[in-house]
Amino acid sequence: MTNVIEPAPPTLAATSDGRCFPVRRVFCVGRNYAAHAREMGRDPDREAPFFFTKWAEAVVPDGEEIAYPQATSNFHYEAELVLAIGTGGRNIAIGDALEHVWGYATGNDLTRRDLQLAARETGRPWDAGKNVEASAPLGLIHPASEVGHLSSGAIRLLVNDVVKQEADIADLIWSVPEIVSILSTFWRLEPGDLIFTGTPAGVGPIGPGDLVRVEIDGLTALTNTVGPAA
Ligand code: MN
Repeated sequence: MTNVIEPAPPTLAATSDGRCFPVRRVFCVGRNYAAHAREMGRDPDREAPFFFTKWAEAVVPDGEEIAYPQATSNFHYEAELVLAIGTGGRNIAIGDALEHVWGYATGNDLTRRDLQLAARETGRPWDAGKNVEASAPLGLIHPASEVGHLSSGAIRLLVNDVVKQEADIADLIWSVPEIVSILSTFWRLEPGDLIFTGTPAGVGPIGPGDLVRVEIDGLTALTNTVGPAA
């Protein structure tokens, strides 16, 4: 059988031990730090977590320039801890959840905030605000066998060396095992899935020429520059 068009190549993320992690899907958790929920005008009342998605091809590696996207005048950074799923499963018990996490990485959930908020206020989908080209910068994925499973540690984001976000992943409203367990009740998790676990307070805009850096204790930092408008 002959393909009528060339199939898209898989997205390959890099691991800290020099291998590739083929990315299957990107799931993201909304509002998972109380102070960020408040800055977005919502109550951090531990209501059930909600999820949105990005295409795997939105992933871009450390060091790569990100073109400033079209159709926005308020493009925001969001520092996040990212989980890399190594073993799939449905209805995963909280007590078993960490067995499904192959590793951890720094990530940046880049967002057209103007379009996201417009969608939110009108009850429309978030895709145009969130599932943006090159909107999922991802640092090296460290295997849990190397760094352990992360439940605390500083997370911070700097724009041009100025700290904009600083928190601790112990402050996640929904923990890593809870996120994996709850997400797996909506979709069967598959090897290669990434989960962006939510951002702390302090989100804000970036523009062409900015240098954006995400740091999480124990993981390799993630640094990207913002290029000219696409
Ligand atoms: Mn986010």
